Amino acid sequence: MGVQRTFSIIKPDATIRNLTGAVNAIFEKAGLRIVAQKRILMTQAQAETFYAVHSERPFFGELVEFMTSAPVVVQVLEGENAVLAHREVMGATNPSEAADGTVRKEFALSIGENSVHGSDSEENAALEMAQFFSGNEIVG
Ligand code: GDP
Repeated sequence: MGVQRTFSIIKPDATIRNLTGAVNAIFEKAGLRIVAQKRILMTQAQAETFYAVHSERPFFGELVEFMTSAPVVVQVLEGENAVLAHREVMGATNPSEAADGTVRKEFALSIGENSVHGSDSEENAALEMAQFFSGNEIVG
């Protein structure tokens, strides 16, 4: 697979509990390098665009409200097989199903307030990165 980049978000439930560094430490220990990072307050439009794939789901409104409720940290992570490596260290969407040692097992509060986002494919990673970063903001 080789070296890849993936897109990551540290979500509001984690930033408000001051867990940005703790989450990043787990990522770095898993071999992922933070090659871009910024803290932003997402607008409703940004959140709706980002989660457009879920727009018909019953939790869409709640998800957009949550993602705009407090700052998030958007990131690009680089590493060997980064998309999968990141998904593995994030853990299952529902923290009650997440494996020990994963971010969601350690920190997530619920299936909605689950501390982190990670792209599910290299193709989506490229699209998601482009929504939040310009090329010269990503430095490997
Ligand atoms: P992910 O790829 O593991 O983040 O999971 P999904 O793509 O299925 O869902 C995207 C995000 O929507 C999740 O990370 C949750 O924050 C949120 N979400 C998913 N299912 C639910 C749900 O049943 N209720 C609520 N409130 N949020 C949900």
